[in-house]
Amino acid sequence: MKTAWDTEIQYLPGVGPRRAAVLSSELGILTVGDLVSTYPFRHIDRSGVMKIAELRPEMACVQFTAKVLRVELFGTQSMTAGQSGAGIGDLPADGMPGKALQSRFDPSKPVKFNLVKRMSVMVGDGTGEIELVFFKGIKWMYARLKPGLEFLFFGKPAAFNGRLNIVHPEVDSLASLQQNGQSRMTGVYNSTEKLKNSGITGKVMGKLVSNALEMVLPTLKDSLPEYLRAERGLPDIKFALRNIHFPESAAALEKARWRLKFEELFLLQLSLLKYRFHHKKVSVGIAMPKVGDAFNRCFETLPFPLTGAQKRVIREIRDDMKSGRQMNRLLQGDVGSGKTMVAVLSALIAIGNGYQACIMAPTEVLARQHYRNICRYLEPTGVKAAILTGSSRAAERREAHAGLEDGSIGIIVGTHALIEDNVLFSRLGLCIVDEQHRFGVEQRARLWAKGCGGIAPHVLVMTATPIPRTLAMTLYGDLEVSVIDELPPGRKPVQTIHATEAKRPALFRFMKEQIALGRQVFIVYPLIFESEKMDYKNLQLGYEQIVEAFPFPDYKTAMVHGQQPNDEKKFNMDAFAAGRADILVATSVIEVGVDVPNASVMVIESAERFGLSQLHQLRGRVGRGSEKSFCVLMTDYKMSKESRQRIELMCRTEDGFLLAEEDMKMRGPGDIEGTQQSGLPVNLKIASLAADGLMLNDARAYAESVLKRDPELDAPENACLKEAMSRDRYQIKDYSKIS
Ligand code: ADP
Ligand code: MG
Repeated sequence: MKTAWDTEIQYLPGVGPRRAAVLSSELGILTVGDLVSTYPFRHIDRSGVMKIAELRPEMACVQFTAKVLRVELFGTQSMTAGQSGAGIGDLPADGMPGKALQSRFDPSKPVKFNLVKRMSVMVGDGTGEIELVFFKGIKWMYARLKPGLEFLFFGKPAAFNGRLNIVHPEVDSLASLQQNGQSRMTGVYNSTEKLKNSGITGKVMGKLVSNALEMVLPTLKDSLPEYLRAERGLPDIKFALRNIHFPESAAALEKARWRLKFEELFLLQLSLLKYRFHHKKVSVGIAMPKVGDAFNRCFETLPFPLTGAQKRVIREIRDDMKSGRQMNRLLQGDVGSGKTMVAVLSALIAIGNGYQACIMAPTEVLARQHYRNICRYLEPTGVKAAILTGSSRAAERREAHAGLEDGSIGIIVGTHALIEDNVLFSRLGLCIVDEQHRFGVEQRARLWAKGCGGIAPHVLVMTATPIPRTLAMTLYGDLEVSVIDELPPGRKPVQTIHATEAKRPALFRFMKEQIALGRQVFIVYPLIFESEKMDYKNLQLGYEQIVEAFPFPDYKTAMVHGQQPNDEKKFNMDAFAAGRADILVATSVIEVGVDVPNASVMVIESAERFGLSQLHQLRGRVGRGSEKSFCVLMTDYKMSKESRQRIELMCRTEDGFLLAEEDMKMRGPGDIEGTQQSGLPVNLKIASLAADGLMLNDARAYAESVLKRDPELDAPENACLKEAMSRDRYQIKDYSKIS
């Protein structure tokens, strides 16, 4: 039976087919229910309207009403011949004189909007005037902001050339300020030019939502059971929907938001967990009941005892591998936490049960490094390992293929070539993927087909980019997560120091002290694509400065960067690794791979230009030896607030997980490295994984307890949950991104 919720949007009073098409194409609204769950992104509180004279650059977002006084358009000079000079006065103070990029358009001529680069709008309210600046959507705004008309503006004031301005303020009609029923606050909805053109202004949107609520609320059933709402103190759905759109008070709005966020996170977790319970029950894997001799021989001859975390993780992996179900596990561990050891021991379990293992790395360099380390550990076991990469020679390749096919090779290490290549395994039982290297559906299918007897091999994905737990839980629906949260003993903490240019002489003195003690120093310069030329220039200047301050032959300085030929790079790198150079000046190419235990100082130039996780990875290059190590973050005096936060955080903690959590809070989950392409299995409408981590944990725990009592959601009190799970939104289909 079709409910009011599922009614097509065109049948809502006030919509009709034409507006329905626009609502669908602009906002993805197809049904009345979709409209009801399109929440305002902000509420206008009439008590918070300010006067222009009160605005200050340090204020956060402000709102005020004002009248449009003057509108001016600026564009490319060559396109406005005869107007030269008109706009020079408006260039920023540090603009290039004589090279005016933008000049004023002649207001008496028809406007060619494709040539307009900037629009300046002066508005006033009797107490003062302020400039509003637009770089985008100019045509639409130009048509709207006619001199003499009054609007409600919302935005962040800033000081520019000693004057206040607001770039890209939101513009609303004064009507949105007017009393809306009981509500002191008015919702502001996403809007577009097309919506406004078809008459769906903010005010009309409010009216449509109000009609929609009238239509759906009487028969709407709550998705959250009563016992849950009572236990968590959440209001019912009718209260929540009414108040998210038309809040009775700030407190009611808060309650509504809380409830809707919880519902979203809870239902998401419920669907993920349900999938996972199901997957666990049905997925067939290769049973590996023993630990085996190879494991034991390797274990007995380890050069060091395993850390508690390594032991725990190996136990988790072992339990998966003997269960008869396919293992699908993500292993997270900071740089240097000892993941290689765990990989080797896991591979040896497969071998002890008569199977083969493959270890895949994202790059050739890392594959070779793995291979070298692994061979060392394997020596006492008699297990044969081989390497296969894109650049393996034909003979090498033939030998590896033959060895894999006849089963004489136990562990194969390589790059992606391993699954792309025409590689046949005799008995593949485990695949270890280093650095969170995701497979597409097709690659995954290929890998699975290589499993012994047509059964998918066990999969272990390892990553050094810590993903906050809350995010991992949601991103990797069917992955179990293991964490190595302990570094091997004997690691000295790295002391992190922030310094600006004034401290450079002191830094150089300190470097000389360290070098006199026999240590080595990294100096890293940023290299980002957009300003590559400038960056190389900075690197070059930095190198010259170092050579001058640390003259040969007392000091030896090497340099590596991406523009050097490969052998030159290798020569310089090897010189530093072997201790023939004291200082290595480099771009961030050294981020991955290099292991120089004798290096005790990492200097990062223009540190404010690096992201948190990159800074953390760079810092991980020191502190690998037995000496106390230092990381010096050099920055400009002036920094954005966000950069300052990052630098302070780096000085405060070395905990990669804490950094990742904070990074996520600052930038939002979309930007966390390594997760960009993966995306979330569903779109969140109101909750945020970054800001609502605590609630996510709670929702997860609650979902677990519900499923434990009632795995199929068959109990009468959970009927509403079962129904919610059957809705499209929570039918997660694309798990291919995972593992
Ligand atoms: P990851 O791959 O997690 O960055 P590695 O596996 O390369 O870390 O280990 C880093 C270093 O720590 C290696 O030199 C390794 O030999 C050493 N190591 C690993 N586990 C231990 C341990 N339990 N005790 C002491 N040293 C260890
Ligand atoms: Mg590693």
